[in-house]
Amino acid sequence: MARIGVDFGGTQIKAGLVDERVVVRSAVRNTRDAAGPSDVLDLVADAIRELTSTPESVGFAIPGEVDGNGRCWRLPNVPGFEGVAVADELSRRVGCRVVVENDATVAALAEMVYGHGRQYASFAMLTLGTGVGGGLVLNHQLWRGTHGFAGELGHLPIDRQQGWPCACGLLGCLESYAGTKGLLATYRELGGGEATTILELANATRAGSAAGRQTFERMGWALAVVISGIQNVLDLDAFVFTGGVSASFDLIEPALRATLGKVAFAPPLAAVPLLVSELGAAAGQIGAALLPTL
Ligand SMILES: [Zn+2]
Repeated sequence: MARIGVDFGGTQIKAGLVDERVVVRSAVRNTRDAAGPSDVLDLVADAIRELTSTPESVGFAIPGEVDGNGRCWRLPNVPGFEGVAVADELSRRVGCRVVVENDATVAALAEMVYGHGRQYASFAMLTLGTGVGGGLVLNHQLWRGTHGFAGELGHLPIDRQQGWPCACGLLGCLESYAGTKGLLATYRELGGGEATTILELANATRAGSAAGRQTFERMGWALAVVISGIQNVLDLDAFVFTGGVSASFDLIEPALRATLGKVAFAPPLAAVPLLVSELGAAAGQIGAALLPTL
């Protein structure tokens, strides 16, 4: 029997036939080939059928939020998903049980089972990319919250009055400081010029750009503000970072550590381990395949 994990990204939909922590085979579709929710679900079902005609179960990680029955609250990248019964619709197409979950929460699940979560019972996951997502694991259990919104760490407030507009409609969320768009805008504002990718920004910083260094310092400061708040509430064992920007974590960590030392309520809260995930790009598929086993 075949367990399937599907990762719905901004550019690709990746379905994987998963055995424990190994993606045995993948089927990939272009997200842009889908015009709306029904197209997306057809593409996902098509990719799954390429892998097997008899899936045992399907886990589906989406860049949005769902309730406990797999009905979508919000999926900003693709208009029209609000209110769609994603789990039921996909289940009807592929003929097996489907469990749907937020992609950052799925990353936390993969980390809990196969990554740093084996060593740390309670941790927060931060996915650093175009957006900033989050997931929470408390005492070896995924914490979804009452309605499925737990761990939306990217939209914790840094500055609700003077901050930049966030994709969610509010001002000054963490994401507007630590997401790709915010970082590139900060770099421009500080006189660094036009960088188009985080890799370019990181390379300029490593080559000595003061604007680049200050950009990553500001990100570290914003992360510290949020992490200290989370620590005051939950007193976790660790924070784990993943996503494209986490490859530049060495540029972020010094300012993050320094600020955390100043703003955390007590020294043990500031001394929390800050770790980068080692699971790699397949974590979404691997974590998604775990969803029906919870
Ligand atoms: Zn926001």
